[in-house]
Amino acid sequence: MAKTMGAVAPLKADLLLSGCDVVTIDGKNRVIPDGAVAVRGNKIVWIGKASAAKRSVKATSTIDGSGQIAMPGLIDAHVHTAQTLLRGKIAEIDKRRPVKIPVWWNYYVPFEAMLTDEDVYLSGLLCYANMISVGTTCFAEAGGPHPDAMARAAVDTGIRGFVSLNTIDQGEHWPKTMITTTRKALDGNVGLVKRWAGTKGGPDRVQATLSLRQIMTCTPELIKAMGEAARALDVKIHAHLCEGVYEIDYSLAKFGKRPAEYLQSLGALDRHMHCAHSVLLSENEMDLYIKHRPSVCHCAFGNYAIGPHRLLEMWRRGIDVGLGTDGAASWGSLDIFQVAHMARVGQQAEAQGHVEGAVGPGCMQQVAGREGEAALCAQGPHLGGTGARIARVYRHRVAGVQERAGQLAVPAAHVDHARRGEGAQELQQEPRLPLQEPPAHVSGEAERVAGGRGLDVRVFQLVPRHHGPHASARRRAEQ
Ligand SMILES: [Zn+2]
Repeated sequence: MAKTMGAVAPLKADLLLSGCDVVTIDGKNRVIPDGAVAVRGNKIVWIGKASAAKRSVKATSTIDGSGQIAMPGLIDAHVHTAQTLLRGKIAEIDKRRPVKIPVWWNYYVPFEAMLTDEDVYLSGLLCYANMISVGTTCFAEAGGPHPDAMARAAVDTGIRGFVSLNTIDQGEHWPKTMITTTRKALDGNVGLVKRWAGTKGGPDRVQATLSLRQIMTCTPELIKAMGEAARALDVKIHAHLCEGVYEIDYSLAKFGKRPAEYLQSLGALDRHMHCAHSVLLSENEMDLYIKHRPSVCHCAFGNYAIGPHRLLEMWRRGIDVGLGTDGAASWGSLDIFQVAHMARVGQQAEAQGHVEGAVGPGCMQQVAGREGEAALCAQGPHLGGTGARIARVYRHRVAGVQERAGQLAVPAAHVDHARRGEGAQELQQEPRLPLQEPPAHVSGEAERVAGGRGLDVRVFQLVPRHHGPHASARRRAEQ
């Protein structure tokens, strides 16, 4: 800011969001009641009191943020875009016959195999528009079919994200489109990362990571080569790890090692590995995590069905941990506020009464925001929920009360306790979407288009045909 004769010239900004309570999640967790945020380009250039903004900021346009909390956008650190149209369907199938476990093996992968490029694009529109509408501004795709279609949908909805490719190079029963050779799996992953590196879809907004679906679906050769590629490209490998007893048994029986020990023996357990779930860790595996620094995603909707999750211990011992929904097919919700709520309840239960010592106010919000960003961002601190990716959350919807955040003892906890992110909005600072466009419009359009193609009906027709490991043989017989 230039000083002239003792007076300070107002700071020029494109946008001023004023009158909201600003939850910064900065180093000091500052909360500014009746605050304001100024944005220029895609950068936050000023944060302070609304009264001070009148003197200090000259903005081209202003948004009245009264009744709202402005906070950094949340990050979904593990989502399955291509499973969005499967939302609620596993529960429906369960009414007809017992669902086969593991669900991903028997339903999710066969379902993904049926989707066309356009189906995945539509799934992406629905998924990302839904995320934006509940305050999520960045996502990490776990690895699915047609990742370029996901990236196009991310570009078109305005969300920030990392797409990745389904990667399976071993197993007898997988649908043809989901399994490939080790060479093609590696080349496909590296090609995707290179295609979406740089400035496609805006300033680094949509990028790609590498992916290993699971140790049971990938050969040791592929895991090793993928680790080398991740180091060469300096990108993450998104994987599922320690998410089921069957996986531990497989790893012990086949390699004499638990999953994280197995990855380490292949040289693939380092800061480039992003391990969704990470529930069933032995003490030695926990030590390996601390030593080699893979990041973790805690999917609280489903993880407590697997076992206790050592989220807070990981966090306090320096492991980067984010929160994830695991996609709409898993629990139905794509709302990270709900995940944060369940994570907090789960950690409280595990602490057995030492509640405040275990889970401090606002800490889940940090896990979903700042820590989630650290978990994802091998490439730089500007990605994810900071910068101008601001989520606006209506106070009364977040907390169920009309109090002003500044009057609460710990305002950050107000958001932390949120049941739902319903009513959250995102300030779109990307040039493709006009400011203030309600994300619901995007969602409505995506639903209309998806409905017009009869996708919802098709899901019901297709899923039972892929019931169980012999589905591909049965499918051939039906054709
Ligand atoms: Zn998953």
